[in-house]
Amino acid sequence: MSTAVPADLTYPFAATPAPGEMLDVAPGVKWQRMPLPFSLNHINLWALEDGDGWTLVDTGMKTPQTAATWEAILAGPLAARPVRRVICTHMHPDHVGMAGWLTRRFNCPFWMTRLEYVTCRMLVADTGREAPADAVRFYRAAGWSSADLERYKARFGEFGNMVYALPDSFHRVSDRDELTIGRYRWRAVIGRGHSPEHLCLYCPELRVLISGDQVLPKITSNVSVFPTEPDADPLSDWLASLAAIRAAVPDDVCVLPAHNEPFRGLHARIDQLIDGHERSLHRLRQELSEPRCATDVFSLLFRRPVSEGNLQMATGEALAHLNCLIRRGQVTCEEDPAGVTIYRTCPRAD
Ligand SMILES: [Zn+2]
Repeated sequence: MSTAVPADLTYPFAATPAPGEMLDVAPGVKWQRMPLPFSLNHINLWALEDGDGWTLVDTGMKTPQTAATWEAILAGPLAARPVRRVICTHMHPDHVGMAGWLTRRFNCPFWMTRLEYVTCRMLVADTGREAPADAVRFYRAAGWSSADLERYKARFGEFGNMVYALPDSFHRVSDRDELTIGRYRWRAVIGRGHSPEHLCLYCPELRVLISGDQVLPKITSNVSVFPTEPDADPLSDWLASLAAIRAAVPDDVCVLPAHNEPFRGLHARIDQLIDGHERSLHRLRQELSEPRCATDVFSLLFRRPVSEGNLQMATGEALAHLNCLIRRGQVTCEEDPAGVTIYRTCPRAD
């Protein structure tokens, strides 16, 4: 994820919840924050009143700090009722990390979209494996050095360490499903590109959108190509799903995002996100009149320097832009003798 110039948005809540506390953000909707051990140091989670219990949306990453914060929340603001259901917007560890811990503790069901659930099971299963040759070849083709590749091999499989044993079954949520949660009906709105089948929840009556990582006010969500599907075009998916969400959800909602603060100005923010990517694609296409590999285009796409810590994310995001331009017929690529993929503007592109 990278920082971007914030759109003209408003933030209706002056304070953010302290660890172990919750703030009411709409009737029956509570906001809490969990710590994250990254430069992005928090995730927002939501508890919805659901009859005599709670439905939780997203769960935090599996860390001792998150478990301690959950203990405080469960003994404090949520103590009066049991957790009846856990919903996760998508499979990333900061969202799904404690789902299994919560569902086992309360013996309650887990709700997710199918692609998020099965992809998460796949990634967790990589923990303990050796880095696959396909993946090493993929990052070498992107321009990584031997030292970068060795670090990747040493780190491979860390995903599973950030996720408590997943619930062994799930209730499938599909696009446009209506979920009754307490007194309100919430509509499933699916996004793609940041993760395969990301769930947002829109409540027309409350005029609230729980947006997960699909629409964030101050940072742009990572959109990456991964070694399991080198030709994927997640950026086209991302742009199309942002446009679809803009059409499906009115502008006057209060957006509850997974990072930063609740905000108003959904359509302006979506327009800005789409516009930012289109401008990057335009610059990239011009830059590729000179042949370059994926790691050569970082300075064009990112304001901040790319370090060891964010090399994989930056590479995935650069490849997402390159694959999108290939899909649009504006860029072509070929492998050089060292196995590095070199991209250039199509001579026939207008
Ligand atoms: Zn995410």
